[in-house]
Amino acid sequence: MDISPYRVQPDSTVDLSSWDTRGDDDLVKDDAKDETEILSKRLDELQEVLYAEEKHKVLVVLQATDTGGKDSTIRSVFGPLNPQGVVVTPFGKPTEAELAHDYLWRVHPHTPGSGMISVFNRSHYEDVLVVRVHGLVPEDRWRRRYEHIRNFEQLLVDEGTTIVKLYLHLSKQEQAERLQDRLDNPEKLWKFRLGDLEERKKWDDYQAAFTEMMERTSTADAPWYVVPADRKWFRNRVVHQIMVDTLEGLDMAYPEAEEDVTGVVVLER
Ligand code: ADP
Repeated sequence: MDISPYRVQPDSTVDLSSWDTRGDDDLVKDDAKDETEILSKRLDELQEVLYAEEKHKVLVVLQATDTGGKDSTIRSVFGPLNPQGVVVTPFGKPTEAELAHDYLWRVHPHTPGSGMISVFNRSHYEDVLVVRVHGLVPEDRWRRRYEHIRNFEQLLVDEGTTIVKLYLHLSKQEQAERLQDRLDNPEKLWKFRLGDLEERKKWDDYQAAFTEMMERTSTADAPWYVVPADRKWFRNRVVHQIMVDTLEGLDMAYPEAEEDVTGVVVLER
């Protein structure tokens, strides 16, 4: 699978209504699932080298509309990996202490160290999304944030971090299905919030905010991918491919032994 059609080119204009939420109909579900399984094993191998080599750092940023599938993507893609090498950080409503600082203050400590994959479940991008849609700070203030964010991410890249940003692209119809599912299913009811319906009324404002976020912050070094998210198996197939391609691009290798072990034998066989 070629992931380039899902990547937002730097300085391009994004029209989200023309980006697919379902994904390519040529791909059959069973084939996609088989391919995903193979990719998942490959990702596991790559993570082991990443962890062993302790050279690269990988930051995955996940953003989506409510019910977009962030949690389920994390479980499917990163769940099978060695938990010692993956840290997931959710970013919810800022605390009082966080609000008393600049908006990147709470984010920076959670960026990955060498050999690690950090997954942000929501992120600093909320500060140009929910903050914009709800007018939590004046426009001239959140507008300047696109540049801060570009610079912040460039700093991370310059210091050895590889950044992948995933926007899970859901249709408004599929969101309605998922919200209704939560209401109808006792095992999903805990996820339902009346506030989600209020947010749904602001669908167009959120789409505008996601659009501008990607137009202004998709860079060659920290690209955004628009992942079709209406069908979970298609979404998983694409995200696995993005992760495998990204890690393969790092050209990693297991480190050499630190000491000279020539002639050392533990057990004669
Ligand atoms: P999720 O919806 O991601 O599963 P929660 O139900 O805890 O998790 O929702 C997190 C909430 O925190 C969202 O409503 C989101 O808009 C909000 N939030 C995240 N970051 C910020 C921020 N910087 N300012 C205001 N609200 C934020």
